[in-house]
Amino acid sequence: MALMRRKEAWILRKIDELRAIPEPCAREWTDGITLPLLGSTLTVDVCPRGTRARNPDRRVEIGPGTLRVHAPARGGAWPPRPATLHRLVADWYRDRALSVFSHRMAVLRRNPVIHGLGQPGTLAVQRMRRRWGSCFCDGRIHLNTELLAEPVELIDYVIVHELCHLREHNHSRRFYRLMDAARPEWRRHRDALRRSRNSAFLQRPPRGESGPEA
Ligand SMILES: [Zn+2]
Repeated sequence: MALMRRKEAWILRKIDELRAIPEPCAREWTDGITLPLLGSTLTVDVCPRGTRARNPDRRVEIGPGTLRVHAPARGGAWPPRPATLHRLVADWYRDRALSVFSHRMAVLRRNPVIHGLGQPGTLAVQRMRRRWGSCFCDGRIHLNTELLAEPVELIDYVIVHELCHLREHNHSRRFYRLMDAARPEWRRHRDALRRSRNSAFLQRPPRGESGPEA
């Protein structure tokens, strides 16, 4: 089954124009770095141990223009190691991406044309190096966590692209006719996504910097 899934993913990857993600650049994982979210920018504010989180269950909290990260309370290094900061932030983005993408998919499917494309299977998010999304033959849709950096209209474009694959598992003329019907302005969004400079913003710190995780 796993082999089958890998094979499906490979086939779609080969043909998917959404793979056009540029090469990443390494980033530092320290207090004060900026991160993209939904077309705007957040500054990471690493809070020292002992600073109270509004919700003690949450290590990472969003505020106006800020992503507050509470370093591990016990046994953690201070300041947190790049690998620790990366893990906390990347986990937050993954959870947030799943919730935003699920919501957008539900909103988009209120459009009768999009609804008519069929019922998608499970939605999952994961970091992908070269693609924004994949649609599997059984209807599962995987979206790239890093798409959460982009404005909602670009997220919607990728979701509609994958939903069109429920009907057409290829990029044939029929596929693009579905895109035209479901989202007439899709070419503009495709071009904007190609120009995006947000790719790989959740890339792990280089190995030399990571050290043992706290
Ligand atoms: Zn595609």
